[in-house]
Order: sequence, then structure tokens, then C-alpha cells
Amino acid sequence: MTRIALVTGANKGIGFAIAQQLADAGVDVVIGARDEAAGRAAAARVPRARFVQLDVSSADSVRAAAESLTALDVLVNNAGVSASGDGAGSTIADAALRQTFDVNFFGAVAVTQAMLPLLRRSPAGRIVMVSSSLARPALDTNLQLLGYRASKAAVNMFTVALARELAGTAIKVNAAAPGFTATDLNRHLAEAQPGWTPPPHTQTTEEAARVPVRLALLPDDGPTGGFFDRTGAVAW
Ligand code: NAP
Repeated sequence: MTRIALVTGANKGIGFAIAQQLADAGVDVVIGARDEAAGRAAAARVPRARFVQLDVSSADSVRAAAESLTALDVLVNNAGVSASGDGAGSTIADAALRQTFDVNFFGAVAVTQAMLPLLRRSPAGRIVMVSSSLARPALDTNLQLLGYRASKAAVNMFTVALARELAGTAIKVNAAAPGFTATDLNRHLAEAQPGWTPPPHTQTTEEAARVPVRLALLPDDGPTGGFFDRTGAVAW
């Protein structure tokens, strides 16, 4: 039977590449996007895809999106922001911290909770949290992005907690670190912070999509509750 996947924030960037690769793998993709015109344009470029309006930070939008679906096998929580005003822990503006958590953490939790009844009915439910290597407290970086890093660390905690809660069901929950990729999120790495040098190799969105897509298509004997980048399992 054809699998159905919902990808949030799929109108552009890594999310769009995830949607394309899932469609190439034979999955019917639902393109979640908060902007209708952008979402419909993206869906028109992905075989068999359809659009659903989905602002992950709006409870009404999340509820309506869930009600519009009748079946779901894969959820990719990809929508994310890096707020302007994010920065060092000593100075970060409250608004930037809250905006980042609203989308990256509370949004991902809300969408997952809304979609869980459908995923529980799937013979092989898969939940992929698009996290980041910046979620790792141990990461050796002087990049000052407390809001972004803390929100992704919270996403990782959600991944572990939900995977444990759903152990014994057919649902697998894993987090992906796609790797540094020049996208709108980081202004295509054009405005690096003083003293911070972007990694020499930045990858394409197609390359970044591979880890989340692999986790979305895990076989029944695949892992759950893990954190993965392109090289394999990552230490939390
Ligand atoms: P991007 O091109 O800016 O895409 C972000 C997507 O999220 C867009 O579709 C955006 O929609 C959507 N979005 C933002 N707020 C939303 C909301 N409230 N509701 C629904 N959708 C919303 O950035 P990207 O780099 O592809 O990021 C995708 C994911 O990868 C994010 O979770 C990010 O944290 C993660 N990631 C990125 C990198 C990197 O180096 N780029 C590295 C590690 C992890 P609009 O077009 O409407 O704004």
C-alpha cells in the first residue's frame, strides 16, 4: 500500500528536498506550508503531492490540518526558524527566544500530538524530528544562538521521551541532524557572526534531506529514539 507522508515547512529549503525525495521513493506527500501560494507552488513541483495549510505555531491551523487527513504513515517535523535577535545567553531578547521555541519546539510537539492518532493506525508509523548538530551541548562551537540551540535540544528530548513512550508500538521516532546547509534559515550563511567561520563544505538541500528521508523510510527493524547525521548515530 502507498505510504502517506506529511512534511512541515515543505515549501522550500530542506523540507522541499525531503518532499521530493519521499515522492521519488513512491510515497504520497502532503506539503505542509503556512503560506498557501508557496505551498501550492511547491506541491505542483512534486509528483502526486498535495498541499495542506499548516502554520505549526497556530493551534487552529494544526487542528484543521489534522482533520483534513484521513491516513498518515510518516510525519517529518521540518518547519523551523532561526529568529533575528537570537544570540548569546546573557543578552538574547525574550521575544526571540519565545519565537524560536514557538515554532521549533512547541510547534513540533503540537503537530506530532495532532497527527499521532493517524500514525497509530499505520502499520509502520515514522516520526522524524529535523533537529541540528547545534542541539548538542557538547558541540565545540562559539556560535552564539541560544534560542535555536536550546529549542533543538528540547526537540531531542521530545524525540527520546516519545520514542520511549511509544516503544512496543509500530511507530519509530528519531531525530536528524541534516548538516550545515545554505538556506533562507541562515541567510545562506552570508551573515556569519563575528569570530565564527562557517564550515568549509556546505551541502545542498538535496544532500541535507538524505538523513531525514532515511529515517522516514526506516524498515521495521530500524532504530527508534536515536539521533543521526550523514555519518550515522550522533551522541546527544
Ligand atoms: P528554510 O529554507 O528557511 O525553511 C524553513 C521552513 O520552515 C520554511 O518552509 C518555512 O516557511 C517553515 N516555517 C517557519 N515557520 C513556520 C511555521 N510557523 N509554520 C509552518 N512552517 C514554518 O530553512 P531550512 O534550512 O530548510 O530548515 C529546515 C529545517 O532544517 C529546520 O528545522 C532547521 O532548523 C533545520 N536545520 C537546518 C540546517 C541548515 O544549515 N540550514 C542545519 C540543521 C538543521 P516560510 O517559507 O513560510 O517561512
